[in-house]
Amino acid sequence: MRTSIKDAKRIVVKVGTSTLTHENGKINFARLDKLSEVLSDLANEGKEIILVSSGAIGIGAAKMKWTHRPVSVVERQAAAAVGQSELMHLYSKFFGEYGHVVAQILLTSDVFEKPVLRKNVQNSFNKLLSQGIVPIVNENDPVATDEIEGEKSIGDNDTLSALVAKNVHADLLILLSDIDGFYTDNPKVNPDAILIDHVDDLTDDLLNNAKGAISALGTGGMSTKLKAAQIVMQEGIDMVIAHGEHPNVLYKITKGELIGTWFKGKQDE
Ligand code: GLU
Repeated sequence: MRTSIKDAKRIVVKVGTSTLTHENGKINFARLDKLSEVLSDLANEGKEIILVSSGAIGIGAAKMKWTHRPVSVVERQAAAAVGQSELMHLYSKFFGEYGHVVAQILLTSDVFEKPVLRKNVQNSFNKLLSQGIVPIVNENDPVATDEIEGEKSIGDNDTLSALVAKNVHADLLILLSDIDGFYTDNPKVNPDAILIDHVDDLTDDLLNNAKGAISALGTGGMSTKLKAAQIVMQEGIDMVIAHGEHPNVLYKITKGELIGTWFKGKQDE
């Protein structure tokens, strides 16, 4: 039993595009509906929920009936601008069915670097959460382009969700992904790869031993998740990586059950 997780009140949940869309790129309505239902239920339990949701680019491209994956910066920006409003429309509809109001917060990395902006956004999160509203966060893709303005972009939502968790002083960050957790090796190639139940410290030994798992899942894969873990663990925030196929898994995770990989937040000595 993961006791510190059981007591977590302020929880950031991150979902990736693969959780929200089918393999053909179209929206997975059932998944979005279920996710909204479970998060609404957790909010009813008295937890403060922040959702970091990807999917703007994928949903925008599908809405514009693009048959190719947007690759260039400007195509990704255009797709994100179209997809973000569609994504919020859907969340607003589904959460609304379960009696919850959502709010959109779009961020760029400079928000966390400039004290005034950081304070502003912290105040907004706190006010929304105190009103029982579920903030839904994404990177402000149309203005954040790492290729063009290096320092302005966070680049991936794993890192973004960790920065959000850190800045709102969350108790727990949950990354829902298309993998069950952090393995000792790439489970797709090595049948002996073992799912790591918990990580107390991201030591060089651990990272070296798990090289296969880290590199195999490449960009936006395990390496960005471990970077997220690094950010939150040193703030004393717990993190869990789990499979997002069945959003019901969030009930088990928040009860402290042994699902996925638990990265334990550092405790003060
Ligand atoms: N912000 C991007 C989107 O909404 C996703 C980035 C990521 O998933 O890492 O499509």
